[in-house]
Amino acid sequence: MFAGALATLGMAWAEAGAPVPALSASKREAVSVKLPAAAFAAMQTISPDHIRWHVRFLAHDLLEGRGTGQHGGDIAAEYIATQFAEYGLKPAGDNGGYLQKVPLVGITTLPATKFTIVPKQGSTLELKPLEDYVAYDQTQQAESDLDADIVYVGYGIEATEYSWDDYKGVDVRGKVLLMLVNEPPSDDPAFFKGKALTYYGRWTYKYEEAARKGAVGVILVHQTEMASYPWEVVRNSNSGEKSYLKLEGPALKVASWVQYAVAEKLVAGSGLDLQKMMTDARSRDFHPVNLSAKLKAHMVSDVRQFESNNVVAMLPGSDRNLRDQAVMYTAHYDHLGIRRDMPGDNIYNGAQDNATGCGILLELARAYGGAKERPARSILFASVTAEEQGLLGSEYLGKHPPIAAGKIALDLNYDDVKPLGAAEEVEVAGAERTTFYPWVEATAKEFRLSIRPDARPDAGHYYRSDHFSLARVGIPAFSINEGIKFQGHDAAWGAAQYQEFNEKHYHQPSDEYHADMDFTGDSAMARFGFALGWEAASSPKLTGWQKGDEFEAARKSALQ
Ligand SMILES: [Zn+2]
Repeated sequence: MFAGALATLGMAWAEAGAPVPALSASKREAVSVKLPAAAFAAMQTISPDHIRWHVRFLAHDLLEGRGTGQHGGDIAAEYIATQFAEYGLKPAGDNGGYLQKVPLVGITTLPATKFTIVPKQGSTLELKPLEDYVAYDQTQQAESDLDADIVYVGYGIEATEYSWDDYKGVDVRGKVLLMLVNEPPSDDPAFFKGKALTYYGRWTYKYEEAARKGAVGVILVHQTEMASYPWEVVRNSNSGEKSYLKLEGPALKVASWVQYAVAEKLVAGSGLDLQKMMTDARSRDFHPVNLSAKLKAHMVSDVRQFESNNVVAMLPGSDRNLRDQAVMYTAHYDHLGIRRDMPGDNIYNGAQDNATGCGILLELARAYGGAKERPARSILFASVTAEEQGLLGSEYLGKHPPIAAGKIALDLNYDDVKPLGAAEEVEVAGAERTTFYPWVEATAKEFRLSIRPDARPDAGHYYRSDHFSLARVGIPAFSINEGIKFQGHDAAWGAAQYQEFNEKHYHQPSDEYHADMDFTGDSAMARFGFALGWEAASSPKLTGWQKGDEFEAARKSALQ
């Protein structure tokens, strides 16, 4: 162990530009940050300039916005693979190479689709696309027919850790399930995390759970307050082509949303009242309700096969008994590509989203590759694709990891780390749910970074970034990012920078590289992640999720 690490971690940070007050003797004893000298020296080589050059190249117009399945995206992947090779890292992709092929399918629901509610008595409801409903055929067939009974399943959630089961063992194979978005409302942190959104509240979970149980379709009831966004958002994100991973498991012929008024009519045909049914769903005693209606659908889709690649490299661990375990770093390289039919600047360069994360990942890879010693466990570096298509590259990686998920101690992800100068805060939302959190706290302290808590846990940001794909297969995972307090500015300034970016540049062609960007904070986030990763790769015990966490079950099954 490196004796000077306690004091000098602060020095390393100082080089990155932050003020470093002298450590008091008592503070020095209290902190338990321990990096070996070789690790510390490697960490100190991490530099803002290296990150800058990667961002400069990856965000260049020649890369045409790094679109998934587009030429520019493939160039980015090859660039990243080349860097990994230069750093002496071992390929961990397919067939002894750095690339891991991700098979993808683009689905567009065509106008020939028919969507009809047929009650046992009374007149049928022929629904209008986009106005009344949106639907995708997730079986990835060009045509599917469906004629099935509709069952109301409340929130459609089965969560043993909260003693909640909307299905109550009812056989829903071959049925269409009508259900609500979000989760049972609560202020109790021990019940669906109180106001915070858990994955059970996300519509993606509801589709997945229904498919696992053998249902053939899902109809989600849209209500603005419950979904926290209006019908327009549902409509806009459910029109045109939607990308999926090539099918590997059960899937729904109909994955759909309907307007509230449509659902009202649908249940009224069975003599039921939707408001009352929504109230009933808030009870643990809720039981599925058979409706006297069927969904008759003829799904017609355009199905386009395409592919992209994750880029994966490994630094083998030094300990013979632990090197088959790993710590993983991730950052997505894809962005929105080029829209050739759009006049003016039509290249979505994605400088901040997420050339910055790639620059950090590459700088970490370089630092680890150049270290004079190696940590006990192996280190995986994965730059994933198709994040903007719905975390698809990381989902594929989670399902096909180079080292089994149960043997991966930790995933640290970087996504859109703003080049705004010397960060004085760090955001690590989700870290507090892992057994690794005390280390995160101690390291943040050592780096003079205060931990900024998630401002809007009810918005479910945790479920919208690549680390989530790895959490759901059981790997303790979170993203590292800056907060809003930067050196020389107050927090309001930082918040204003974020707001301006979100309004003017987020997912716009203007998210471009500028020479006056300051990568000091990006470098600090890389160093912080380096220290965390090294420790997780060296500690005797594997990191886990805390007891009762929604990912604990996935971790347990991954460990078997
Ligand atoms: Zn994005």
